[in-house]
Amino acid sequence: MSLNLKEKMENSLSKDVLKALEDCSTAAGDYGFKIYLIGGVVRDLILGKEIFDIDITVQGNATDFCHKMADKKICKILQVQNDLKTSKAIFQNKVEIDFASTRQEFYPRRGHLPVVVRIGCTLEEDVYRRDFTINSLALSLNERNFGEIIDYVGGVEDLKNKKLKVLHDNSFNEDPTRIIRGLKFAARFNLHRDEHTKELQNYYLQNSLHDDISWSRVKSELKQTFSLNNARVFDMFIANDVYKLIYGNKPDIKGLEIKALVDKYSPENVWLTYLGCSLNDKKIIENFCFTRQEKKIFDDKQYLLEHDLSIINSNYDIYKFFEKRSIESIIIFYLLTRRKEALIYLEKLSQIKVMVNGDELKELGITDGKEIGKMLDKILKKKLSGSLINKADEIEYVKSKTK
Ligand code: ATP
Repeated sequence: MSLNLKEKMENSLSKDVLKALEDCSTAAGDYGFKIYLIGGVVRDLILGKEIFDIDITVQGNATDFCHKMADKKICKILQVQNDLKTSKAIFQNKVEIDFASTRQEFYPRRGHLPVVVRIGCTLEEDVYRRDFTINSLALSLNERNFGEIIDYVGGVEDLKNKKLKVLHDNSFNEDPTRIIRGLKFAARFNLHRDEHTKELQNYYLQNSLHDDISWSRVKSELKQTFSLNNARVFDMFIANDVYKLIYGNKPDIKGLEIKALVDKYSPENVWLTYLGCSLNDKKIIENFCFTRQEKKIFDDKQYLLEHDLSIINSNYDIYKFFEKRSIESIIIFYLLTRRKEALIYLEKLSQIKVMVNGDELKELGITDGKEIGKMLDKILKKKLSGSLINKADEIEYVKSKTK
């Protein structure tokens, strides 16, 4: 029996979104197009998750369809990509919808963006270029069967059984970034890979050399995936050998340990805190073209791992060792070495700050720049040993030293 989500849509989509979809539906009927909701939005509707992005696929030419709607003031076009025949449009100045033309693709280089071989193919042909069965569902927006799910690949059953399944045996070869996407979906929706997908993934990870992969796509998928701050993602990244895709290490760290530290110390780059626990390969780090701030995390991690901690025996030494290092790198260093000094720094010492400043020291009679630096350092040392609780204490201390 066919599945129809019309009622579910009425209950879970906002009035504005429903109105926009109905307008599209009427326009499609008037202009002779067949249109469908496609991919993540259909999956999320079935699962009853909140909808963020609305994607419509138009059997035929999506830009033609959008221009026709814009001419009749049904929407305003925000963007057009002419080579792919995709458009972004806004309805009632509120609801943004992405429109794509049905297309077939071919991957000339593994893991790079595909090349479009045909635009305006059938919906069924369009569906087969997708990553997983659960992302290959369409929902008709056409008057005859509005709300009906069109499932060429068994995606509804897989969603019900919590199965993550690729569409064909060459899927990971064509695009290995799907391995990382799989992690993301498995964690978000609590899915398990079906046996054959597991075999294909294992085979790929054990046998493939993929230096020619598009590292920027790998980076983008890793960023989305690890930004979920989901412990299971990291556990699967290690247990399912996905780390081999980035020539990473297999550390003895549990996802929950990383999550606990991320939640406690809120590093800016959550995803790099996870990734940095495995990624070590200098060449891959270079391939990722990190920003300066991102790269610093890996440089800091290297610095911490390469320097001798045995000479550290006071709070002041610990402070100086970690002071200039990023939070991400300190968390990674702790997880890789279990050195308790890293936690002492994060937990306690990093909060300790000297309150008097250079100008105030000048007023207290220290005028030479070098001497100011030395005095600030002395105050810090004293504070780290547990004295000088407040600013008045610091000033008293300075006075006692300059008498
Ligand atoms: P999310 O909720 O994370 O946005 P999504 O499924 O909408 O999930 P997108 O990355 O926006 O994810 O992709 C939209 C759709 O495009 C997917 O549902 C899938 O059908 C298809 N897709 C995206 N990336 C790939 C890929 N690498 N290979 C094949 N199909 C893909």
